[in-house]
Amino acid sequence: MRQKLVVGNWKMHGSLAANQMLLAGIQAGVAGLTGVECAVCVPYPYLAQAQQQLSCSAVAWGAQNLSEQAQGAFTGEIGVAMLADFASRYVIVGHSERRALYGESDALVAQKFLRARSGGVSPILCVGETLEQRQAGQVREVIAGQLNAVLSAAGIAGFAGAVVAYEPVWAIGTGLTATPEQAQEVHGAIRGLLVELDASVAAGVRVLYGGSVKAGNAAELFAMPDIDGALVGGASLVAEEFVAICRAAAL
Ligand code: PEP
Repeated sequence: MRQKLVVGNWKMHGSLAANQMLLAGIQAGVAGLTGVECAVCVPYPYLAQAQQQLSCSAVAWGAQNLSEQAQGAFTGEIGVAMLADFASRYVIVGHSERRALYGESDALVAQKFLRARSGGVSPILCVGETLEQRQAGQVREVIAGQLNAVLSAAGIAGFAGAVVAYEPVWAIGTGLTATPEQAQEVHGAIRGLLVELDASVAAGVRVLYGGSVKAGNAAELFAMPDIDGALVGGASLVAEEFVAICRAAAL
């Protein structure tokens, strides 16, 4: 059975003082939960703080982006070895904000996925359609295209133990959530695509849902057979909300 995973995406929020309180609240709130793994993906400057504060807890940490390059003259970029230096377990790859605002292509996302894997940090690969694409009936085609770009580069073997996050762009930060049935349909399609290539790898991939997940809608989403947890934006900045989502995923 796949262990549920709930990951907070802090985006560009936080300060040393605010993070201290937030991490303490999360740490205390999830202590003793079983059947769920919890993690926070923090802005780069706060990786050291996350490492220091969470090292003796059950909460993992990671980053929200990385360079596709290993190292060198790439001003402003962050390499996977640097994330590994701070014991990051996860890194988000291909978030829709990076695709839309920073022009990250499917090909670049695939390179970042490979770079993370080769550096020992687990990528959380985000895929998702826009509202226009959904209204045009292109959901499966869009998701398959985003996934296939990474599959062509990494092969199905590169997905062993991987994490994929289905995040419909129209549900991110909007308060609109896909219904559990809408989400399950896409999660099932993602799993189906992987099953065609290798059923045992597909069975181990955790497919998270992301898009306005809150304490109030988490349990019904987690009840779906192919929803293995959540990638949480806004609600991950409030300890009680994030903890409640983790609790909804626990056994
Ligand atoms: C996200 O940014 O990954 C996200 C899911 O945001 P929110 O939960 O705020 O919709």
